[in-house]
Amino acid sequence: RGILRIVNLGVEVDGRKILQNVNLYIQRGQTYALFGPNGSGKSTLLMAIAGNPKYKIYDGRIIFKGKDITNMSPDERVKMGLGISYQNPPKIPGVKLRDLIKHCAKLGGTEDKIEEYVKMLKMENLLDRDLNVGFSGGEVKRSELLQLLLMNPEFAMLDEPDSGVDLENIAVIGKAISKLLERDKPEEERTKSGIIITHTGHILKYVDADYGVIMYKGRIACVGDPYDILKTVENYGYEECVKRCLRTL
Ligand code: ADP
Ligand code: MG
Ligand code: MG
Repeated sequence: RGILRIVNLGVEVDGRKILQNVNLYIQRGQTYALFGPNGSGKSTLLMAIAGNPKYKIYDGRIIFKGKDITNMSPDERVKMGLGISYQNPPKIPGVKLRDLIKHCAKLGGTEDKIEEYVKMLKMENLLDRDLNVGFSGGEVKRSELLQLLLMNPEFAMLDEPDSGVDLENIAVIGKAISKLLERDKPEEERTKSGIIITHTGHILKYVDADYGVIMYKGRIACVGDPYDILKTVENYGYEECVKRCLRTL
């Protein structure tokens, strides 16, 4: 049943240890919400899972679909079914969104879904624009999500899909993420899994997550019900939430 297993992971960036001793086990069909203060290492974890070479694994390993991917290239991981949407994707002048999504659809075998997904994410007017050039915050997030939906990954990682997005667009994004992670299907039919990083938790109104995890100072400091965690953090702050959580672990 396991799809992703992270064992004792340590990650450094530019010679600085950012993550220590991270353990996580995610089963097929499950969605995790990842919380944590700014700079705690949330994006670093996703980058390490995606295989970004800047994020050097100095300890532990990452098992995906039963295979050790710790030393695999990002490309190989994508081919195996990992997908990521970035917190701050680059602007790429000269690359039209329309051409990029065709490429994504080819990789994901979803050519017949392009129209449906473009409509769902209200991207009709952006297709002939250069990627992310002059896009608003919400447009960048919707563009990332469109690419990911078309790539159709088995395991999707979303870095703050709800940050900088207005309320109306959060509903649109929420619907798309539900589709991506099959949260609109009955539990026993789900085969997709993923991790959603969220600061505000807004997205959890539209996408129900099975578990919540807090990243704190480069470690996983709490695992529990995502809505309980969110409420505790809102009321008492991260430090107190982590203390309470450690007591019950
Ligand atoms: P979060 O996503 O939780 O806000 P990050 O994973 O982005 O946190 O960052 C964790 C720590 O690692 C921060 O102190 C940040 O400055 C550092 N860091 C992350 N990426 C880089 C990078 N590319 N170069 C240098 N430092 C980085
Ligand atoms: Mg951050
Ligand atoms: Mg981040």
